[in-house]
Amino acid sequence: MKFSKRLDRIPPYLFASLDEKIEKRLAAGADVISFAVGDPDIPPPEHVTRALVQALDDPSVHRYPSYKGSLAFREAVARYYDRRFGVSLDPAEEVLALIGSKEGIAHLALAVCSEGDVVLVPDPAYPVYQMSCLIAGAEPYAIPLKKELGFLPDLDAIPAEIAERARLLWLNYPNNPTAAVASRDFFEQAVGYAKKHDLLVAHDNAYSEITFDGYTAPSLLQVDGALEVAIEFQSLSKTFSMAGWRVGMAAGNKDAIKALGQIKTNIDSGIFGAIEKAAIAALDGPWDFVEAARETYGRRRKLIVDGLRAMGWDWVDYPRGTLYVWAELPAGLQSGDFADRLLEKADVVVVPGAGYGPSGEGFVRLSVTLDDFRIEEGIERIAKAVNSEF
Ligand SMILES: *Cc1c(COP(=O)(O)O)cnc(C)c1O
Repeated sequence: MKFSKRLDRIPPYLFASLDEKIEKRLAAGADVISFAVGDPDIPPPEHVTRALVQALDDPSVHRYPSYKGSLAFREAVARYYDRRFGVSLDPAEEVLALIGSKEGIAHLALAVCSEGDVVLVPDPAYPVYQMSCLIAGAEPYAIPLKKELGFLPDLDAIPAEIAERARLLWLNYPNNPTAAVASRDFFEQAVGYAKKHDLLVAHDNAYSEITFDGYTAPSLLQVDGALEVAIEFQSLSKTFSMAGWRVGMAAGNKDAIKALGQIKTNIDSGIFGAIEKAAIAALDGPWDFVEAARETYGRRRKLIVDGLRAMGWDWVDYPRGTLYVWAELPAGLQSGDFADRLLEKADVVVVPGAGYGPSGEGFVRLSVTLDDFRIEEGIERIAKAVNSEF
């Protein structure tokens, strides 16, 4: 049997060997502590799970859902944007329901790019931006995110001939994996860049509500004129611990929303209506759950960073957002090697930064989605291994 050439464009999975080693340790009965998992371990709010159960009694939810999401859902998204960001959206044309934001992110390249077009993809980054571009037959151009620049892309450094061919620019702040945040100023620059080069700027705002120390993350759509050139992806996965439910949304430029919707109507059939109703309950609030989750994640993040600093890695910063700590390794250590040896010596899993792109080399990502005891024990084991091995 022969398969699509499209699949040949997808690079081999870098950490297959690490995964195999983890499997082996688990099979041997080892007590493996994983800082690799990126999804919330706190259960979703009770009023939301109750709304889901109640919705099952409504006969209409068992029929095919609306492709774009029900108007009620899109109106709840518009209310959220208005309340949270002061952004006014037309729920009829500027909002689209997604079966989790990953689905929309991945389909965007198919809606925007023709073969040979360029997609500007940050490096390191959530892998879907690059993979969806390759699947669409477009050409990714990696923009390095450097520590010296606060892990923001230097848009002026993109060569003119690349900018000319680019159709899409990806941004993601608060950022996975670097945990960096972006200011309104930077978003203004990005919108200006998109206008100048006639491209769509897509912002993945999955972590807008997972922030610490009083920091509030902006929306790209807050920038004047953003609705002319921008689309933003949002998700209930991280905010409300609903990763398994598969519900998210896109908001922004109506032509981009329409184009994405056109791809989707030919591939999927919308979100389950009962999940949509529960998502409305989540977005409309109360939001005390989100506040409590921020406190929990913030405390765990402090445990991790304090622990790393105490073992001598005093350069590691306290992130202001996301579920991750992005820790630079001491000079000379390679991230894949470090992760391999840490697993061997300490039964602890961290994600090698190089897995998110070549510029992620020299860093590892630790997630805050495990409880305080496991974090403390994990950090203790890391410190022991680092002191004796590295
Ligand atoms: C978790 C994550 C998502 C995907 O969220 P879903 O809505 O569950 O598909 C998108 N972008 C980034 C950067 C993420 O880390």
